[in-house]
Amino acid sequence: MTSAAVTGTAARNGGTRRIIVMMGAPGAGKGTQAERLAEAMGLPHVSTGELFRAMRKSDTPLAEQVRGYMDSGALVPDDIVVAMVDDRLTWKDAANGVILDGFPRTVAQAEALDGMLARVGTAVSAAPYIEVPTELLLARLTGRRICTADDQHLYHVVAMPPKRDGICDIDGAKLYQRVDDSEDTVQGRLDKQLPPMFEVVDYYASNNVLFPVPGDQPPADVTEELLRLINTKASA
Ligand SMILES: [Zn+2]
Repeated sequence: MTSAAVTGTAARNGGTRRIIVMMGAPGAGKGTQAERLAEAMGLPHVSTGELFRAMRKSDTPLAEQVRGYMDSGALVPDDIVVAMVDDRLTWKDAANGVILDGFPRTVAQAEALDGMLARVGTAVSAAPYIEVPTELLLARLTGRRICTADDQHLYHVVAMPPKRDGICDIDGAKLYQRVDDSEDTVQGRLDKQLPPMFEVVDYYASNNVLFPVPGDQPPADVTEELLRLINTKASA
């Protein structure tokens, strides 16, 4: 990759390139915290969701390949996802580092990321892990309620409850829960997503870059603790 020389230089000059890998289950607030860290640290927030959307508009051979998988409904293979992240790391705005969100999802991807970073003389500096008990994840992920009269009227039984149980504050219509948000669906999703995530968590723990932070506290406190850990403990 031609622009790899650019990042290699950035890593050597000062050695302050920070590769932050956000870890956390769905409902842990990982995306929100990644956004806040990105702003506080002046680094780009790179989520795989956004990378995939960018590939829709991009005109490179890699983008064409990715679109092929997406259009056929097939899972995009690891090496392609890794190539996407590899490419993203060579962008100018990533010269001082990135906050990765949604990648790596598996140990194979984590190993590929390490290999890719090693080639440009750098490594993962920190893997902050927002730890939330499964019961709380379930409560957060199943709490959404939607107005039957207007789907823009959104509530959450814990975070943003209506004044009257099950009734829209704005128009008095009944609230309902999407099937996607039902306990069975959410539990099924967690059963599928958590085991590979725990393997990646263990991988980073054994590499001494895992920083667990309790996620069952106000978001501002989580951010503060994350920044403190990254600034005091993370290798640059
Ligand atoms: Zn309503």
